[in-house]
Formats: sequence, C-alpha cells, structure tokens
Amino acid sequence: MTEKKLPFNKKQLKKIIEKYSTPFHIYDEKAIRENAKKLARAFSWADNFKEYYAVKACPNPYILKLLKEEGFGADCSSFPELLLAEKAGIKGENIMFTSNDTPAEEYKKAVELGAIINLDDITHIEYLEKTAGIPDLLCFRYNPGPLRRGNAIIGQPEEAKYGLTKEQLFEAYKLSRNKGVKRFGLHTMIASNELNPDYFVETAKMLFDLVIEIRNKLDIRIEFVNLGGGFGIPYKPEQEPLDMKHIADEMKNVYEKMIKANGLHPLKIFMESGRMITGPYGYLVAKVIHLKDTYKKYAGLDACMANLMRPALYGAYHHITVLGKENQALDHTYDVTGSLCENNDKFAINRSLPKIDIGDTVVIHDTGAHGYAMGFNYNGKLRSKELLLKPDGKIELIRRAETVDDYFATLDFSKI
Ligand SMILES: *Cc1c(COP(=O)(O)O)cnc(C)c1O
Repeated sequence: MTEKKLPFNKKQLKKIIEKYSTPFHIYDEKAIRENAKKLARAFSWADNFKEYYAVKACPNPYILKLLKEEGFGADCSSFPELLLAEKAGIKGENIMFTSNDTPAEEYKKAVELGAIINLDDITHIEYLEKTAGIPDLLCFRYNPGPLRRGNAIIGQPEEAKYGLTKEQLFEAYKLSRNKGVKRFGLHTMIASNELNPDYFVETAKMLFDLVIEIRNKLDIRIEFVNLGGGFGIPYKPEQEPLDMKHIADEMKNVYEKMIKANGLHPLKIFMESGRMITGPYGYLVAKVIHLKDTYKKYAGLDACMANLMRPALYGAYHHITVLGKENQALDHTYDVTGSLCENNDKFAINRSLPKIDIGDTVVIHDTGAHGYAMGFNYNGKLRSKELLLKPDGKIELIRRAETVDDYFATLDFSKI
C-alpha cells in the first residue's frame, strides 16, 4: 500500500490558489531532494554512480538545477532539451544524449556541449562522423530483441524501434575503435513504469554479461553501463514503490560476482530515470466548474488533457483527492473530465469519490513526471503554470501559464 498524501493542508493550498489561481502543477522540492539523496545512498557502493535525470519527464530548468545540486546529470533527447540542460548549468559528460532518428544539428549541439553521445544505430557512427565528428567517448544502445521480455507500456523489445542488435553492437564497437574512439559505454532501456525489482537486476546482469563478452572478444574495456529509465511508481494506492536500496544491493552482489571476479572493476553504473525521480512529487490542482448528470455523473474541471495526457493516452490511473473531503465516504461515482472536444478527455472514469460540489478543489496525484511535459495545444487549450513548493513552505512560480498571445505567436495576422 502507498498512502496518497499531500504536502500541504487545505488552508495552505487555499492560500496558494488565491494567489496563483487554478489550474497548476505544483512540485514538492523537499520530497524530490530527499528522494534523490535516497537513490544516491542506495548506490553509494558503486564508484561514480550517476543518475542522468530524463529531461523529458519534467523539462523545467528549476527542477534540473535542483537535481544538479543533488549530483544528478541530465539525459536529453532533443535540441531544446540540450539547451535546457545547458541553461541549468549542467555541462560536458554530465549530459547524456540518448536520441533516436536523430537530426544532424542535434548531434552537433551535443558534441559542442561535450555530452556523452549514446547512438541508437550502427549507421549513426558514419552519420555522426560526417555531421559532427567522432568524439573520444561513444555509447551504444543495446536492444536484446527476443532475448528479453519487455513490459506492457514499452512492449516487446523486438517490436521496439530502439537500439542495436547484439551482432551490430559488437560491429559498432569495432568500427568506432577503428575510427579513433577511445572510451566506450553501454546502454539499454527495455521497460517503462516497471514495478518488479527483479527486472532491473536482470537488466544489470544482461549488461554485465555483455561487458565481459566485449572484453573477451574485442579486448575493449567498457567504462560505464547505463541501465536506462523505466523504474515504476505506485500510481495506485494498492501498489508498492520499488525498493531502490534492495535493487542496488542485489546489483552489488551481481557486480561482485561478474565484474569484480572478471577483473573489470571499476565499471561505472549510470541510470537515466525520470518518472521515479519526480513523478510522485508533483500534483495537478484544479477546480470543479461544472457538475453534469446525464447517462453518467460528470465532474468537469478547469483543467483538461492539455495539462495531463496520461489518462487519455494510456488509460493511466492517477489518484484523485477532493480537498477537505479526504475522510468522507467514497459513495459517489464520477467521470472526472476536462473541456476538450474529445471524449477521452477524462482524468478518471467511474471513479468512486466523495460527493463533489461546484467549487471543490481537486488534486490529481503523481503528475511530477510526464505530466506538464506532454501538454499540447489541441482545441486551442493553453498549458498551465508550474509552481515549486520550497522546503520552507514558500511558493516559486517556475513557469507562467500560456497566454493567447503565446498560442498565436507563430501566426502573422497582418498577412491575412
Ligand atoms: C523516457 C526515457 C527515459 C525515462 O523514462 P522514465 O520512465 O521516466 O524513467 C530514459 N531514457 C530514455 C532513452 C527514454 O526514452
């Protein structure tokens, strides 16, 4: 069980709403920092352990900066994400560039920043050479295909567009060594929102096996393995969070048996998690503006899927708290909706909730990753602001809400 708590009480949140008005995403800095420290402690056995926060999960430079202060790097997958990392003061090999189907200008920017480049395909070695030049350090993304099972969100590895096959991986290390690459990394990411701890230990084993095989067959020493992201969070109260200390301890055992025993110590361990780092510590706060009773009961919010797309996109569960009614019986059933002209614009379907009144404040949990970030402007809907709840209880506006002028910024009305 995971208790779905709020980092503020009703009185505090009312004050925040008075000043900033709904809807908004709000992130709990104290909880994010504590979580970051816990992860670093769990992996303190590993020399130079580093988490590269997946920027796409919450692309806000204030969040990146506070994670940088906790020793994190940034995992970027596009030109703007590279710029965000740069603006947050994250530099050089503290940036990992994991992209696919990559345009030339993105490789150029990544090389210019001195980022670690993680190639998604063997043909990208030549593409990189022609467009940005070959760096000293290269990493490759491995796709085990039928050798591993994926999970529901990311699908089976053979169906995934990412990464190199095993044969290609060996060719890629040889080819890049011939082109002057001196340092090598190995990456994989084959699960998303996975809550089975053994899965990640298996992934570490798979990568350690490859590190040994690459040394034996190619005489190439891998400098780091990147376990990717995909660590799940308990969106549902009946789910348990991953025990990262347990995962790290299990990985240590495997590391000792495989890496140390084969004379390959030290091998750096990297991760590029997004969801697990900030997901549980963000909340979308909205107000009920309409109640509707037709074939079903609807509670209509002033937020919509422009602010949070996961329920519509994946049928994902996000827990909902009706502020001040936490202890009331869940004796009503609602579809909680937004205002988009799309019937899947629903934050919850057939959800048992306390009786809702117009004007109630609704808090949607676990929006700290892949929440604001997936927002879009379909139907002319504007994206909300983002707030940071500081450890001292103060509020910082870390992104203002979009305006109609932002929405029209790419149009020139004078020419019509
Ligand atoms: C999306 C993604 C991540 C982060 O995934 P989470 O589920 O947020 O941990 C990390 N690496 C790559 C390559 C990704 O595409």
